[in-house]
Amino acid sequence: MDKPITIGLPRAMLYYRYKTLWHSFFEELGFSVIESAPTSKLTLEEGAALAIDEACLSLKIFLGHVKALIGKCDYILIPRISNFGINHEMCCRFEALYDLTRNVFRESGQKFLTYNADMIQKKSEWAAFMGLGQFFGFTVKAANKAYRTAKKAEQRQQKAEQKKQELLYRSEKIKILIAAHSYVICDAYIGKPVIEFLKGSDVVPIRADVIDPEDGAKAGKELSPTCKWQINREILGSIVQNRDKTDGIILLSAFPCGPDSMVNEIIARRVKDLPILNLVMDGQNGTAGVETRLESFIDIIRFKEGKL
Ligand code: SF4
Repeated sequence: MDKPITIGLPRAMLYYRYKTLWHSFFEELGFSVIESAPTSKLTLEEGAALAIDEACLSLKIFLGHVKALIGKCDYILIPRISNFGINHEMCCRFEALYDLTRNVFRESGQKFLTYNADMIQKKSEWAAFMGLGQFFGFTVKAANKAYRTAKKAEQRQQKAEQKKQELLYRSEKIKILIAAHSYVICDAYIGKPVIEFLKGSDVVPIRADVIDPEDGAKAGKELSPTCKWQINREILGSIVQNRDKTDGIILLSAFPCGPDSMVNEIIARRVKDLPILNLVMDGQNGTAGVETRLESFIDIIRFKEGKL
């Protein structure tokens, strides 16, 4: 039997949103899927060395993950996901990611794989996945079957995560909403240490990114009817849906994120009923500085609630 084609997934950026969809689609079609290891200091250092200084921390981390996969798989998947319609757009970095990465690694000999999802140009996710299937010689019927199976797996995973999070609201402990992109919250080097510190301080972290994307984007209009970025809309929606159930909000961003810097300002001006901590991770912060700020924030909440 021929060795299956191996698809590499960089464990960064949209990996956290689409990992189930991607795994399931390719595995249904008989591919082997590998992922880069969780982010470490080295991942960031290697990515930063490949990026321009102005690139956001998430992009630097992404390039570090791509580097880790070079030569280890047949193709590295880097989709171009532009928008889900007007005013449901992605940060422009996601439009450029495929071309940018291919250019950075142009001398590596590595093959990259992409698809183009751009609803404003009437290019749906479904059509993009059919294109991927056809690229590898599958019929539309086979690609469609794999896509449907993958979408069901994705929905199951989203529902399971939402259900798990619902259980956290029952806790009597202080609950803090972490308003951030999934690839910031879930990243082993920048987001996870914050989550673990909160847990270790007897606080329940609630992830703003665990939300039905459509519901979130609709609810987000209450805080900003004109926000054009889909993921930020979802985060705003999560704040609307969670503000009565949580004791504070941490705005966790990757330096220097354009969309977050604007939307976090909106949140700070429009959410007056909860304490808010703005934490911008630049990859340089040793954990001590971050931990001190988290400790003070938790104390402020405890003091406000008469628990200190
Ligand atoms: S939204 Fe912010 S963190 Fe994400 S890719 Fe764009 S600039 Fe980077």
